[in-house]
Amino acid sequence: MPIGIVGLGLIGGSLAWDLRSLGWEVLAVSRRPEICEMAIARRIANSAGVDFSLLAAADVVFVCTPISAMVTVVKRLIPHLSPRTIVTDVGSVKTPVVEAITPMWENFVGGHPMAGTEDSGLEAAQRQLFAGRPYVLTPVEATPARSVQTLSEIARSLQSQVYHCNPTEHDRAVAWISHLPAIVSAGLIDACTSEADAAILKLAQQLASSGFRDTSRVGGGNPELGTMMARYNREELRRSLQQYRQSLDRLIAYIDREDWAALSQKLEQTQQARKQFNC
Ligand code: NAP
Repeated sequence: MPIGIVGLGLIGGSLAWDLRSLGWEVLAVSRRPEICEMAIARRIANSAGVDFSLLAAADVVFVCTPISAMVTVVKRLIPHLSPRTIVTDVGSVKTPVVEAITPMWENFVGGHPMAGTEDSGLEAAQRQLFAGRPYVLTPVEATPARSVQTLSEIARSLQSQVYHCNPTEHDRAVAWISHLPAIVSAGLIDACTSEADAAILKLAQQLASSGFRDTSRVGGGNPELGTMMARYNREELRRSLQQYRQSLDRLIAYIDREDWAALSQKLEQTQQARKQFNC
C-alpha cells in the first residue's frame, strides 16, 4: 500500500521514516528539491518530488504542513487522487481542519500524532517519534469507518496508542495539556527575562537547572507552531488561560495571606492529580 506524505518537516519526515522502515512504499512531496534529495538519500522516502502527481498511486496521504497551508494543499492534491484514497492530516488543532476539508474530500480523516520536539524541518525528523505516544483520530458522522480502521492500523504499527474522539472534544482536551502549557511556559520565560537588574538576570540564567528546563521547554519551542495553536484553537485556549489565571490568583492569595496550610493542601492535591495524566 503506497503511502503519501506532503510536507517533509519534523512530523512528515518522522512519519515517512518510520513508515518506510516498516516496509511501506513512501512517496513524499516537498516544496524544495533539495529536501526531496535529502529524503531519498537518507532512505526516509522511496520517492520524493515537488509535484503532487507523484501521489497518484498513494492509497493514504498524510498532509503534514502547517495548518494554515492544509486547505490549499488538499485543493492541489485532489485532482491527482483516486476517490478511494484516504486523506488525513497531522494538525495540532482539529475543528477548523476537519470542517474545511471534509466537504472537499469525503474520504478524509482528521488525525493528530501527539509527539514532537522543539525543532522543525527534515533535519529534526526522528525514528520512533510516535512510539508509546497517543495518536488521535477525529472522525465525524460522514467519515468512512473503513478509512478510520485503516488509519488506526497504521498508527498502531507506529506503536502509538490510538484514540478516537470528535474534533471539538480533541481541541478542548489539547487546549489543557498542550496549548495552555505552551503559552504558560512562554509567559514564564517572558516573566523571568523581565527582571530589571541585569546582574540578577544573568545569575538566574547561570543557575537555571532541571526545574527551569522542564517548565520552559515548550515555551521555547517553534514560534510558528505556538502561534498556530493560538490562532486555530483560540476559544478553547482563551477558556483554559482564564481558568489558569484564576488558579494563579488563588495561589497568590494563599501566599499573600501566608496561608501555608491552604497552599500545602493545594500542592498535595496537584501532586496526586498529576499522576492521572498520561505523561
Ligand atoms: P515543520 O517541521 O515546520 O514542517 C512543516 C513542513 O511543511 C515544512 O518542512 C514544509 O515542508 C511544509 N510547509 C511549510 N509551509 C508550507 C506551505 N505554505 N505549503 C506547503 N508546505 C509547507 O513543522 P512540524 O512540527 O512538522 O508541523 C507540521 C504539522 O504537524 C503542523 O500542522 C502541526 O500542527 C502538526 N504537529 C506538530 C507537532 C510538533 O510538536 N511539532 C506535533 C504534532 C502535530 P517542505 O519544505 O518539505 O515543503
